[in-house]
Amino acid sequence: MSGATRLVDLRSDTLTRPTAAMRQAMAGAEVGDDVYGEDPTVASLEERVAGMLGHEAGLFTPSGSLANQLGLRLHVKAGEEVIADSLAHVLRAEMGAAAVFSGISSRSWVAERGLLDPAQPLAMMQPAAGAYQVSTRLVVVENTHNFGGGTVQPLERIAALREATRSQGVALHIDGARLWNAHVATGTGLAAYGQLADTVSVCLSKGLGAPVGSVLVGSQAHMDEARVWRKRFGGGMRQAGILAAAGHWALDHHVERLAQDHARAQQVAKAVADVAPGVVDPATVETNILILDVGAVGWSAAGFVTAAADRGLRIYATNAHAVRLVWHLDVDEADTAYAADVVTDLLAEAAHRS
Ligand SMILES: *Cc1c(COP(=O)(O)O)cnc(C)c1O
Repeated sequence: MSGATRLVDLRSDTLTRPTAAMRQAMAGAEVGDDVYGEDPTVASLEERVAGMLGHEAGLFTPSGSLANQLGLRLHVKAGEEVIADSLAHVLRAEMGAAAVFSGISSRSWVAERGLLDPAQPLAMMQPAAGAYQVSTRLVVVENTHNFGGGTVQPLERIAALREATRSQGVALHIDGARLWNAHVATGTGLAAYGQLADTVSVCLSKGLGAPVGSVLVGSQAHMDEARVWRKRFGGGMRQAGILAAAGHWALDHHVERLAQDHARAQQVAKAVADVAPGVVDPATVETNILILDVGAVGWSAAGFVTAAADRGLRIYATNAHAVRLVWHLDVDEADTAYAADVVTDLLAEAAHRS
């Protein structure tokens, strides 16, 4: 960090810190023992999020990974399979949990930007494979798509997939860690997305700014079963209303403002496209995540990350040639302008070098 005068951290939207007002809401939360089902703030958050997503019941979890893994577990038995695109968080970023804890097998298809084409999972599915091949029980759709670059999955594509999977007895889980962003970017109702899936997980601790917490929603029977597995996995929490209060606060105050994050990601995408063609197409930047193919102008991702960090801009390498920048609650207009300057300078430097 030699000589950096500023620090702007765009590595992830998990980095948000609870605001002073959120901390006050947390301090005042009514609590009880949630393993006994006696925390009113957790219960009201679960009910609220289930209602928003058009489902019967919800379950508060300490992480999005746990919410996803409980969802997978409800639909897929040991020795059966889940399928998802090859960049999906459930396959790529949850440390093999489905295999380790639930004996779940998986396959994937390759989707550019993680964008769903229902024909791909439908071509792979084998729900009644019999005694020779693994049976498909679940398809996971990630919306928005993290490693795909904040891609919004079009509602009609999920609907088409839903219709075909349902008729074959295959379940659908939406990894909606950033479903809020899809909702704000498109104006599509959260319940319109939610109703297309058997279970949906959402994160409160990404751009919404809560320190901890996700919610899984589905039928009452599914949530009753997930509650048992949550305890088995060690995710039963006691006076968790302190955390649930942050979630309530986030839903009250931090959903609509996600539009600002989207506009800022777009602003930097355009600045980059002006100086370095081929690094990003601004038309593909739909929400708060910007992936730059710095390899297109001769940078390695690791080299670019280090050069940016030297100037006080922290970003994340998603592979050998691409970096990810994520906008969130703790990044303002001036931070965004600074990020644009650093990134465009470095890219221009590479262009002149080659
Ligand atoms: C962040 C994220 C999760 C959950 O992550 P945790 O760190 O376990 O809370 C799940 N899915 C996607 C797409 C994510 O980006």
